[in-house]
Amino acid sequence: MRIMFLNPPERPVRAATTFVIVASVWLAVFGNLALWRHLMHLPDLTGWHSWVFGVAFALIIASVVAALLSLLAWRYTLKPAISLLLLVAAFATHYMWAYGIVVDTPMVINVFQTDTREARDQLSWQLLVTVLALAVAPMWWLWRQPIQNLPWMRQLGRNVGLCAAALTLAFGTLQLVFQDFASLMRNHTQLRYEINPLNSVYAVLDLTVIPSNQVKGPLQPLGLDARIATPAKQQPPLLVFVLGETARSQNFSLNGYERPTNPLLAKENIVSFRHVTSCGTSTAESMPCMFSHLGRSGFVNRSNEFENLLDVLQHAGYAVLWIDNQSGCKGQCDRIPHVNTSNLKLPEFCEGDECYDPIMLHRMEAELGKLPAERRARGTVVVMHQMGSHGPAYFKRTPSAFKTFTPECTDTSLSQCNRAQVVNAYDNTIVFTDYFLSRVIGWLKTQEKTSTPAMLYVADHGESLGEKNLYLHGLPYSVAPAEQITVPLITWLSPGFEQANRVNTRCLQTQRDKALSHDNLFHSVLGLMSVKTTVYQRELDFFATCEGR
Ligand SMILES: [Zn+2]
Repeated sequence: MRIMFLNPPERPVRAATTFVIVASVWLAVFGNLALWRHLMHLPDLTGWHSWVFGVAFALIIASVVAALLSLLAWRYTLKPAISLLLLVAAFATHYMWAYGIVVDTPMVINVFQTDTREARDQLSWQLLVTVLALAVAPMWWLWRQPIQNLPWMRQLGRNVGLCAAALTLAFGTLQLVFQDFASLMRNHTQLRYEINPLNSVYAVLDLTVIPSNQVKGPLQPLGLDARIATPAKQQPPLLVFVLGETARSQNFSLNGYERPTNPLLAKENIVSFRHVTSCGTSTAESMPCMFSHLGRSGFVNRSNEFENLLDVLQHAGYAVLWIDNQSGCKGQCDRIPHVNTSNLKLPEFCEGDECYDPIMLHRMEAELGKLPAERRARGTVVVMHQMGSHGPAYFKRTPSAFKTFTPECTDTSLSQCNRAQVVNAYDNTIVFTDYFLSRVIGWLKTQEKTSTPAMLYVADHGESLGEKNLYLHGLPYSVAPAEQITVPLITWLSPGFEQANRVNTRCLQTQRDKALSHDNLFHSVLGLMSVKTTVYQRELDFFATCEGR
């Protein structure tokens, strides 16, 4: 028997610059399907004009990508660089197409902070098909092609030449369509975050290179002068601060929603503030800002990192604890005792690899017992970070007994369900949060003999549920719809707490339509806990107006 070895046909050896051009055109055209769809639906451009503009826009994107890639057009860097851009553009295209998200700096922070469980929630066959078609297929082709190996001086010459030619083409084309381009970008600010893969490249540079977003200087201490200004003879205060997740204010029946999503809280002596704005449109953006003394604008423009509300409470002498049933506290609990309940795997609270929020109450007393007794004698603040309404797999957030609204969307890709099913699944998470908060209040009532309990609940940001074809959250703050930045804020004060702190729930109820924001949280919690410090600003404390008998 004869074995024949056939030489595969010789592949043509192409120049690195050729791959740069092919990849740039591919990325501009196919990596931007979501952008093209968006442009086609804009009323600004019509007829042949829109086609000319579209071609010019694609040419500008391809030229800028080519200029960028020409810097990396070396034998060992070109294929990895192109592959990375293909993958980034494919993933971004999927999320833009399916959920209307855009890629900006906070979104990239969120991606880096996403844990594997959150990532698994988002897997779907549409994502797989998109990545296979837009990234894996061209990568498969690319990696089989030999690249011409030139002496490095000649390669450098070619790369510089290509970069210069690409930039000239980009600027030249931009000149031709400048008027349309400028007015389009002005009227539709979010378009600039839809240009793949340049949006991702920009966001990564923004985080790493551009100075204003680099990690700010050394951590500044805050409120070292804090002390507790309450008479020592009364019971120590016990505040549970429930940090909600992705809850939007308008789906709370307490705030006027027509569906009964708050049957249990409605029976409690609570106050639900109806006009509360979040600091950001994502967890990563809102959370550090909520606990900061700076407020939204001060936080965005800060020149230093500061300690936060929890540090100040600790400086004052209180026992402080963070219980997390989600992906962590994003640095907010670094200097206080903290515990994560999301991977405890207790069958009565957990299903699969995630636990329902009541598991935090189950752990409460054991974790409180570990805190220093002398601090607990002064009082305690516990933050409970919920899994709440985290999407897109809303249906996973509620046990079967809480499926009040059916049928639910049970596909992780929301575009596979009709809007009513998505809203049903989401509303069930609000019903479950209602149950959880009423359980928290129930537990706090059992603590009335040894403490003066209170609860404060506020969510990190809202959610889009198909309004204007948008889903999920994370749009740039300046263009975010109200659904993504209007959050619930609910307070419950025990009679003992009202008496000791002279804050009156009935008075607070008259304030419920007052416009509040995350900016008020830092000062209101300090006020509620009677902490005296120079960083406290009474005018931002929403309890202050209702103090006094
Ligand atoms: Zn969040």
